[in-house]
Amino acid sequence: MKPQVMALLAFGLAASAPVSSVQASPPQQVSQDRLHADVDRLVAFGTRHTLSSQVDRKRGIGAARRWAERELRKTSKLCGGCLTIELPERMVTGDRIKTPVRLVDVVAIQRGTERPDEVVIVEAHIDSRVTDVMDAEKDAPGANDDGSGTALVLEAARVLSQQRFPTTIVYAVVSGEEQGLFGGKLLADYAAQAHWTVKAVLNNDIVGNSHGSDGLVDDGHVRVFSEGPRADATDDLRSAQRRDGGENDSPSRNLSRWIAGLASGQPGGLEVRQVWRADRMGRGGDHLPFEEQGYPAVRFSVAVENYDKQHQDVRTQNGIQYGDTADAMDFAYLAKVTQLNVAALAALAAAPLPPVATAKAAVQTYTDVSWNAVPGAASYSVWRRRTDAPGWQDRVVQDVVATSARLEGVRGDDWFFGVSARAADGSESPVASAVPGGGFAPTAPPASKP
Ligand SMILES: [Zn+2]
Repeated sequence: MKPQVMALLAFGLAASAPVSSVQASPPQQVSQDRLHADVDRLVAFGTRHTLSSQVDRKRGIGAARRWAERELRKTSKLCGGCLTIELPERMVTGDRIKTPVRLVDVVAIQRGTERPDEVVIVEAHIDSRVTDVMDAEKDAPGANDDGSGTALVLEAARVLSQQRFPTTIVYAVVSGEEQGLFGGKLLADYAAQAHWTVKAVLNNDIVGNSHGSDGLVDDGHVRVFSEGPRADATDDLRSAQRRDGGENDSPSRNLSRWIAGLASGQPGGLEVRQVWRADRMGRGGDHLPFEEQGYPAVRFSVAVENYDKQHQDVRTQNGIQYGDTADAMDFAYLAKVTQLNVAALAALAAAPLPPVATAKAAVQTYTDVSWNAVPGAASYSVWRRRTDAPGWQDRVVQDVVATSARLEGVRGDDWFFGVSARAADGSESPVASAVPGGGFAPTAPPASKP
């Protein structure tokens, strides 16, 4: 199927298409059984602690990482070698890594056919832990944290590698998260060194359960976390945002809005609960190093966390079962989170990069919005919302070829504006806000690192 047809299906806009003449859309190809089997396989490595054995053939982070690499190579074989496997690595130390350890990420790159430097990344961490974060010996099944996300990444690769896209998709299984987000940082640095134009990062961490330890159940929502003020903001940008606004308009926040809109168009799928903070209170994940580099990034996580099952020694105490085992997971739910990721990746890989836009309305009764032309765009739309409205409300200029528009009679002080880009096949980008720091690009160009 052509990417454009598939992207429309992913958006739920082509429901009336003759289904018999096209294969199932990528989200429909997600297999709950394969996800379950992958989580069981990951648990069977005993522990995947970052400081565990790198050479043992059956147990530890090395065996687990090599298995993930083999799975991606198998997937690549089935698509005629469409995935390039890279193994970025570095030596790391930190508060939770006392002596230097070799850290390796497993990255599969599905090159875009038109704009290969434009990249959308799906990532999860393969390492696991128990109660004592330094304990590399005890069984640390890590079924949900983050076997669930790792299985999602492998499954997304299996499904999406059957299609071709104008831009690149990167499937990343990273390590060292529990010891201090080392694998996410390594991957973000890798992206900068490769001079990738990072359109979006979808980090999936704890995405496979629906029951909380207090009995609360929610299998209808997935949370998407995004930062407000940009992590890479400079003093100049903060000053400009204080004047003109933009603290609720980072590219990560607009990516979150876009994913929520996509999810609401998927019949039978999960609704997105947007959480407008970078991550859960006092906690972090592998999307944060990307935001620090200035890249749009969000974290997917379950609606209801079960704290008895996270970062716990496997044990029974006072009649309560602790430990991150697969029996506490909900694989139908994990399949739905995977479907949403697959739909988002397909649509983002087909769409252009959102333009960088500016709005001018000081001391006048009209507003001028202008933006840069972006590769792959056939038209642009201008959006607006009230300054206290959560999401984009009106498309005030629809699909024009021009790169500027005058909004007569619109007093800009009372609105936020944004611009989206659409490819010839109809695939539409997220909206980028016409505020300081609204662009889907780092505030400063990435420093080249040795
Ligand atoms: Zn995690």
